Amino acid sequence: MKTIVLTLIFCGVVSANEEVIKYLHDFGYLEPDSTNIPELSDIRNALILLQEKFNLKPTGEISDETFELIRRPRCGVEDHAQSFTSHIDKWNKKNIKWYYAGSSKRTKELTEIAFNTWKEHTDLTFEEDQSNSDIIISNKRRLHRKETSGQHFCSKPFDGTGGVLGHAFYPDINNNAVEIHMDQDEDWYFEIDTNTPKEKINFCAVLVHEIGHTLGLAHSAENTSIMYPMYNSSNIELSKDDILGIQSLYGKQDEDESKDDNNEVEEDSNPPELCKLNKKIKNFLIVDKVLYIYYEKWVWVMDLDNLNVHPKLQLISDWLTFLPKGFKNITADYQRPPGDVVLFIDNKLYVMEIPSFKLKYGYPQSLTNLSLRKNVALHSAINSYSGKSFIFFDDVYYIEVD
Ligand SMILES: [Zn+2]
Ligand SMILES: [Zn+2]
Repeated sequence: MKTIVLTLIFCGVVSANEEVIKYLHDFGYLEPDSTNIPELSDIRNALILLQEKFNLKPTGEISDETFELIRRPRCGVEDHAQSFTSHIDKWNKKNIKWYYAGSSKRTKELTEIAFNTWKEHTDLTFEEDQSNSDIIISNKRRLHRKETSGQHFCSKPFDGTGGVLGHAFYPDINNNAVEIHMDQDEDWYFEIDTNTPKEKINFCAVLVHEIGHTLGLAHSAENTSIMYPMYNSSNIELSKDDILGIQSLYGKQDEDESKDDNNEVEEDSNPPELCKLNKKIKNFLIVDKVLYIYYEKWVWVMDLDNLNVHPKLQLISDWLTFLPKGFKNITADYQRPPGDVVLFIDNKLYVMEIPSFKLKYGYPQSLTNLSLRKNVALHSAINSYSGKSFIFFDDVYYIEVD
């Protein structure tokens, strides 16, 4: 009886829900290039990631609320971009030039306002310049070509009215021009207010978000953030999250600095001294003769072949870019015999590949997947030479995990 029920569930998930699988692929929850039908366990894990991201019950099953979520209009950029590409870059200049191909006077006015939304909180300046543009915006529909790459199609076709509203590309280290594509099939609302009629899409809300990507910001999990992937017509201002994000990339405006000199910045400018930490150091990692010592949000990188050179101090979040916003410290870590490194952060399990330091597909995972309760006090984890892993928690307990 049990077997029959399971088979029915399995068939139901795979056949009826190509839409869900496509969504998980398109937005970075499932490995993008996989040509094979994904394993049921991969789909479950991807669904859990999606559900956790959007504060739904992380069941790994396709619930009504999951369907509701994936049918909401949204940005076409992947939610997990940072996990699947090694790094998102930023512009290494302060004056950014933009051009909106084939735009009307009204579109240009609104585009200027959208850029100013970002300019208000940071040191960047923006200027319209067709001949030398860094950010090229255009309207596209269905299968479309990029403005900058001749006959090449954009990798993500649009889907008509609703669904994906626009998408954008991240800056690269060489300061090459990047593009924003706005879906021409949407019924756009070209006013700057929050009274967007129900059947229309607020142009500014979408454009401010897409500009955020071209400046180097990924999606935020805060639903008040302009970088939240789902469309919200009344979300046209930057939230605290967006402001901190853009300032971490390009710094603050001068006047902002004096009025908002908070502790966070103070703390960043005064990292602890490695030699004074002494026995407080619990975690380290050796990869390719490089020693990584970490403490709270800091990492010291030391070349073991050249011990005379002073260790290089870095923020862990700059080194492991897949870490969540507000990351405070790595609770425990260990290296598995084939080389992957397992990290425990905020009661989530991260597995990264060595030596690329990329997050593996399907992670992070909740510790409850290891049969630990949600708020367990984790102390440390080790891996034995025989390949067994042990996790120590709540002062007196340990479990062995696969
Ligand atoms: Zn986006
Ligand atoms: Zn495109």
